Amino acid sequence: MTGQSSFDYLIVGAGFAGSVLAERLAKVGKRVLLIDRRPHVGGNAYDEIDAAGVLIHRYGPHIFHTNSDEVVAYLSQFTSWRPYEHRVLASVKGGLLAPIPINRTTLNLLYGANLETDEEAEAFLKRRAEPVARIETSEDVVVSAVGRELYETFFRGYTRKQWGIDPSQLDKSVTARVPTRTNLDDRYFTDKFQAMPAAGYTRMFERMLDHPGITVELGVDFAEVCDRVRFDELIFTGPIDEYFDHRFGRLPYRSLRFEHATLDQAWLQPVAVINHPDEAVSYTRVTEYKHLTGQSAPKTSVTYEHPCDEGDPYYPIPRPENQALFKRYEALALATPGVRFVGRLATYRYYNMDQVVGQALATFRRMQRLET
Ligand code: FAD
Ligand code: UDP
Repeated sequence: MTGQSSFDYLIVGAGFAGSVLAERLAKVGKRVLLIDRRPHVGGNAYDEIDAAGVLIHRYGPHIFHTNSDEVVAYLSQFTSWRPYEHRVLASVKGGLLAPIPINRTTLNLLYGANLETDEEAEAFLKRRAEPVARIETSEDVVVSAVGRELYETFFRGYTRKQWGIDPSQLDKSVTARVPTRTNLDDRYFTDKFQAMPAAGYTRMFERMLDHPGITVELGVDFAEVCDRVRFDELIFTGPIDEYFDHRFGRLPYRSLRFEHATLDQAWLQPVAVINHPDEAVSYTRVTEYKHLTGQSAPKTSVTYEHPCDEGDPYYPIPRPENQALFKRYEALALATPGVRFVGRLATYRYYNMDQVVGQALATFRRMQRLET
């Protein structure tokens, strides 16, 4: 419970969207109350030391990568970085570990192909690719690039598990996040900046929010705070349909159950993440955190991700009808004075962390322009 009960801003949600805006607004002299219904800051990027002494991510692996100098410069005020380039293997064909995104090594491994140049790999894929007149779905993107066999090996099962629908029902933007390469680059991302916050995400958030103008209240819901506290403006970073009491119906979100485990062995797998496209396996991927943090410990901590419908909303589901429903909420939001919607759930966008930071910084700039 806060002593002070009057603020310039109430910000709902202490993830990237809410915390960046709290920090920016406090810096220009505003009094901010930042709340979260969870008992911690950081939103989905929250990390913590577990019983084995390993820094784990409570809500699944969060790998930082960006091409934005502005976002790096901003966050670097609150953390130093541990260089880390993410590499992922997929367990296919009954246990063969193959690099994903598909690259020349993947093709050589799977087909014993001995492809030596980009051109050879390109020609190899061209022979398999199926022409698709208009690329609209997540199936189209992959089938038109690598053909049906590789699509079924790497994408169909994973996507059906992750989203609960077939890739043919999902917008192309989802599987288009994972490129196809003809070179030997086996990194998951190619962004120019790839690193992990050296002391973890939570520490970075704590430093961001360490300002006399920011009051943080955790374990409280917006519904219980809004009557008790006076504020001039509201910034909401939770699900936009929830804010409007699901007036037009529920926006679909996909959830995950995170199964955390500590194993009595030093290492489980050769890389931080192994993807499991096989539909007979209930989880989609397994993360071993010591690869991300560079820690050494006698035990190892891992997380299995089990996708599900019920539970916290983690992923907006990119489909045309969902976007149309979001647009109705967005129009309502624009017509509602005194409140701004920022972040992955509030703007129903499948955004990475850096994109949410960028969106929050842009929102702050717009707010500043309106004030002058
Ligand atoms: P959130 O982090 O969801 O924060 C919103 C907060 O609002 C939550 O803490 C919630 O408790 C709170 N809240 C909501 N409603 C209320 C209410 N009514 N009252 C009080 N509090 C409320 N991005 C990357 O860049 N790299 C990755 O590797 C990566 N991996 C990911 C893995 C998983 C499993 C998931 C789910 C996401 C991943 N992301 C990754 C995306 C990243 O998590 C998001 O981009 C980012 O955390 C979004 O920040 P946000 O502030 O918009 O939302
Ligand atoms: N995907 C897949 N197989 C993989 C990796 C990804 O089918 O081995 C698809 C799947 O639909 C997934 C999407 O590509 O949801 C985006 O993958 P990404 O790794 O970006 O997912 P995120 O980290 O956001 O969960």
